[in-house]
Amino acid sequence: MARDAVADVRERIDIVDLVQPYVQLRKTGRSYKGLCPFHQERTPSFIVFPESQNFHCFGCGKGGDIFSFYMGVENVDFREALTELARRAGVELDTVPTVAPEVDAHRQKLLDLNELAAGYFANILTNSPIGTAGRSVVEQRGVSAEMVRSFGLGFAPDAWDGLLRFFTERGVDPALAQEAGLLQTRDSGGYYDRFRNRLMFPIRNRDGRTVGFGARALGDAQPKYLNSPQSSIFDKSSLVYGLDLAKDGIRQADKVVIVEGYMDVIAAHQYGYTNVVACMGTAVTEAQIALVKRLSRHIVLALDSDSAGQLATLRSLEMLPRALDSEQIPVAVPIGERGYVPRAVIQWEKRLNAEISIVRLPEGKDPDDLIRRAPERWPEVVSTAQPFLDFLIEGVAGSIDTGDARQKAEAVRRVAAVLHDVGDRVIQAHYAGVLAKRLDLPESTVFNEVRRGTTRPSRPEQSASPSARPSLDASMIQRRASQEDHVIALLLKHRDICGNVMDQVPADLIMDSRNRVLLEVIRDRSIPLTMDPESILAGIDDLVADHGDRLLDSLRATPSQYAIQIERDILRAVDRMREARHREQLLALQAELRDAEASGDKDESARVAAQLAALAVEHKQFAPPTSPYFRDTRSDVTP
Ligand SMILES: [Zn+2]
Repeated sequence: MARDAVADVRERIDIVDLVQPYVQLRKTGRSYKGLCPFHQERTPSFIVFPESQNFHCFGCGKGGDIFSFYMGVENVDFREALTELARRAGVELDTVPTVAPEVDAHRQKLLDLNELAAGYFANILTNSPIGTAGRSVVEQRGVSAEMVRSFGLGFAPDAWDGLLRFFTERGVDPALAQEAGLLQTRDSGGYYDRFRNRLMFPIRNRDGRTVGFGARALGDAQPKYLNSPQSSIFDKSSLVYGLDLAKDGIRQADKVVIVEGYMDVIAAHQYGYTNVVACMGTAVTEAQIALVKRLSRHIVLALDSDSAGQLATLRSLEMLPRALDSEQIPVAVPIGERGYVPRAVIQWEKRLNAEISIVRLPEGKDPDDLIRRAPERWPEVVSTAQPFLDFLIEGVAGSIDTGDARQKAEAVRRVAAVLHDVGDRVIQAHYAGVLAKRLDLPESTVFNEVRRGTTRPSRPEQSASPSARPSLDASMIQRRASQEDHVIALLLKHRDICGNVMDQVPADLIMDSRNRVLLEVIRDRSIPLTMDPESILAGIDDLVADHGDRLLDSLRATPSQYAIQIERDILRAVDRMREARHREQLLALQAELRDAEASGDKDESARVAAQLAALAVEHKQFAPPTSPYFRDTRSDVTP
């Protein structure tokens, strides 16, 4: 590619203009400030830097360039962000398909086979004498003919070669059908049907293409539910059952209800509640939340009432973001032996800007039962959803003996750790109150624990020095960009020997979204470490790959180095990037502090001073050591 479309877009779109529609920005000094769109807060800690065209949030740590912002706020990938921003900027992108045509053609074949099989199963359920057993289950469960049609339900007959013969007659390559997860191979050679004597639920992607099946056993056969195997077209963790039919319903209700079972979804839709979808199995994954969140950020989990169901789902939240901002990913803190990971949920809500609430269904009831028994009461059931923190406190407090002081102390510590991650003082105070009441403790005791969790020890003498005012200029921004490129170039080229160091590069220090994508690929352990950089680049989006090529080119002239030198080189550059960001933030906050002081706004001054102090503590390595001979005037910054 001759020109750099990404750079063109970046040049033409001003980050302040881009952010304005999402965040009400106020100019403070050389930067702009507003309420962070990536986490909930009452006082602004989200800052946009027009000079370097990037943003940073002091609350949740998110930061980056125009692409990172757009990707985060619209929840799209790099390619989608680039396409939209290029459109706005009037930059033409070369429309090269991101998937190689032969890969795409193969995928199409697998999808076609699944659809052919869906037709076969559906025909048996509705028309064939060998579908009687399936029909009686459908009738017994009260599924209407209309739902059978729109969900494409089918029946796999009790035979080893039903689908096999159907395919053979149509000249389908059985090896391909096996790859699609429809046939299995015999040890003795040959093939047989994977699904036998089961009610078939086609699983479709968002666009309505059948990518696989969920199959429910008739009678006592095990497993009760059998899914298509994981394949290039079927990835359970990023599919949501019923989404193709629920899109409009979710948008209209501005709420999505996630249930566990296919039958639950069908029952809901049959009675007009079309904003209901199912996670695949008992796990809700971040990818699934991200999918539905595009339609509404109000997410209700209606889990089966047996605690196993609830806990399994909460536990699944553990399978969390290997994604973008690795620095923000908390260590999941298990609550009791049951393994809640509440901090993960809080991070989800922040990262995805979603509101997650949880419905406790009555004991022994699933949504299917509830809806069929009293369809008109379903909205009432959904309205009992508790915000996640209430649910958590209820769960923690409910699981201990409130007469036991040690258990109480432990419960307080656990909830305090979660409230720590929430960040917002008002929310913290509210829930500290709720927990105190629940455990019959003085509110101040709980709140102190929460604060102990949140405030890092901050010594005033470590505050930033106004006399050592850092300066920020274009060349510094430039240097930082080139350091970032250098780090990524080295990691990409020497990925095989950078196993130790690659995880020490914080993703949120990376400003260029292409570098972020590259860093993710570099860290992807499913790609063999021995794979050469050119092959790695061949497998990713062209625009990112072009950038990667340029990075590799930049290293051509450098002489070969020992692994240890390369590591040192990378870590040194990372330090410099940290320092550059630190200076940028310091400068912005100092300008802000001057503004606030000039306007006489005491609260605002105190707030900014506290942020400055926190920054100094966070990066004390950049603050010069205190002198043993002179009084340290740096503490004068804090009031
Ligand atoms: Zn934030």
